[in-house]
Amino acid sequence: MKKIASLYILSLLCTPLWAANLSADNRIVESELNIYSARKEALIKPLLDKFSAQYDVKINLVTGKADALLARAKSEGKFSPVDIIITTDVGRLARAKSQSLTQPITATLPDYVTLKDQESHWVALTTRNRPIIINPLTVDADSITSYEDLIKPEFKGRVCIRSSSNIYNQSLVAAMLIQKGEAQTLAWSKGMVENFARRPKGGDRDQIKAVVSGVCDIAVANTYYLAAMRNADETTQAIANKVKVIWPNQSNRGVHLNISGISVAKHAKNTLAANLLIEYMLQKDAQSWYANTNHEYPVDPSIEWSDTLKAMGTFKHETIELNQVGELNGQALRIMDKAGWR
Ligand code: FE
Repeated sequence: MKKIASLYILSLLCTPLWAANLSADNRIVESELNIYSARKEALIKPLLDKFSAQYDVKINLVTGKADALLARAKSEGKFSPVDIIITTDVGRLARAKSQSLTQPITATLPDYVTLKDQESHWVALTTRNRPIIINPLTVDADSITSYEDLIKPEFKGRVCIRSSSNIYNQSLVAAMLIQKGEAQTLAWSKGMVENFARRPKGGDRDQIKAVVSGVCDIAVANTYYLAAMRNADETTQAIANKVKVIWPNQSNRGVHLNISGISVAKHAKNTLAANLLIEYMLQKDAQSWYANTNHEYPVDPSIEWSDTLKAMGTFKHETIELNQVGELNGQALRIMDKAGWR
């Protein structure tokens, strides 16, 4: 159902999206948008509500676990109502693309956008990093300057990290695979298993808590989990404030970088509204709100980081092709399996 005169609809169908604008705030788009989001409702809905009000687009938001939402879109096939997929980790965005769940984005992207699929099947909305977290009372910060240092014999039985089924670890290892090759990545994975304090379990927050409770001394966790804990209730803040972030590999490849991102669904019916939402999410106000609410780094470099992230310090991050990271997740998992990383 279109909202505007048929003349405009005709012009719309004949012109690319960028040319179909009446004005920045008077766009010709469909009146509905169906979104599958792996981000929790509180972390995205206020922004979608603003978009909905500004453009008079009714949004139907389905939130859930990332893999379950992708499986749902896949099983629905061409009958799927989904127009927009919002999810985290380039591994998942690449998986959605490889399973033919996405189509090229036609939105006009700001000049600063560099983190996107080569064929425009996804674009990053925020970035996150996966640094090393230590207990500064039990670990000399100077003794760990890289991911490679995690496998030093002195850290035997002292490292906590989640399981190999976790996509963040698959992407971390995939990134290492690209930069160091298979033999060194396998050796590193084996070294990690040697140094595990326990069989991997729990999420990133659990690894941070385990460092503070003395189960281990060193963990690997995504930045936004630590930032969220530092903004949570007093007890959680107290735990989170006891650990220190180590930015690894600052003299070479940098800390592992990953993203949260957005795609237009393969069988989207509302592609104009979908692409408009992508443009909206990359505007300054949206970038600022979304990144700060999720405790992530905005992709727009002109937007200030949250105070919590600023306090963690600046860093050098990986600059490898994220497409490749996503594509190598399967191989990374096989290497971890081979190393006995459960
Ligand atoms: Fe997460």
